Amino acid sequence: MKYQVRDVCRIMEELAPLELAFEWDNVGLQIGDPDQEVSGVLLTLSVTIESVQKAIAGGADLIIAHHPVIFKPLPHIRTDTPEGSLLTAILKHDLAVYVAHTNLDQAEQGLNQWLARDLGLREQRVLAPVDNGTVGLGRIGTVAPVKLRTFAQQIEDLWNCSVRLVGDPEQEITTVAVLGGSGGDFVQKARESGADVLVTGDVSYHDAMDARSLGLAVLDAGHFATEQIVVKELGRYLAERWGDRIRILEDHGASPFASE
Ligand SMILES: [Zn+2]
Repeated sequence: MKYQVRDVCRIMEELAPLELAFEWDNVGLQIGDPDQEVSGVLLTLSVTIESVQKAIAGGADLIIAHHPVIFKPLPHIRTDTPEGSLLTAILKHDLAVYVAHTNLDQAEQGLNQWLARDLGLREQRVLAPVDNGTVGLGRIGTVAPVKLRTFAQQIEDLWNCSVRLVGDPEQEITTVAVLGGSGGDFVQKARESGADVLVTGDVSYHDAMDARSLGLAVLDAGHFATEQIVVKELGRYLAERWGDRIRILEDHGASPFASE
């Protein structure tokens, strides 16, 4: 059986329904023809010229990304701009691009669930649920009592990153909130929910000050390290559905921060 782009969209939307995306977001099929046949997909966090080249070299006709390749309305597609030349390369090579962003963040079995499982959280629930349900942003749960410093080191090893720490490194923590990507806005929510520590990325100076005044520890592992799991887990999900009928390439890319 030949797979078409529309079949991949359907399988992706069984995991991450489009209606779970935030209003301001832009998700779903962003470039390409739903009727186009798919023989290979490339999974990536963000679409870059390197990921486009990897897709072409590996025989993938569809790129599945976490971050939208088209987000704001485009004033133009000029090949003398990075965005314009990226879109031109995609179109010239008949590549399709599908995006699962905040709908994958909020999905019951999505980014935040994968992070919680990776951290071994027990008795977990959604940190910021939609309609008190099983979908929503972040997860909160418990770990065996551990020093904050040790927990930070475990995360550095697990996600191959360096962690910025807010709080007393010697304190013992058991209740952990985790939220992939930019989680600085969830300091208050994590504290109210009983977390000892919030594990997230993109924490600003002011978020860190708020956390300290609330007595909440924060481990900032960076945006990249707290979302990179998407590539591996989407690969696993799609392979379960397809077996070896469609080639799956994983582009693990790199954080733009050389020291992250
Ligand atoms: Zn992100």
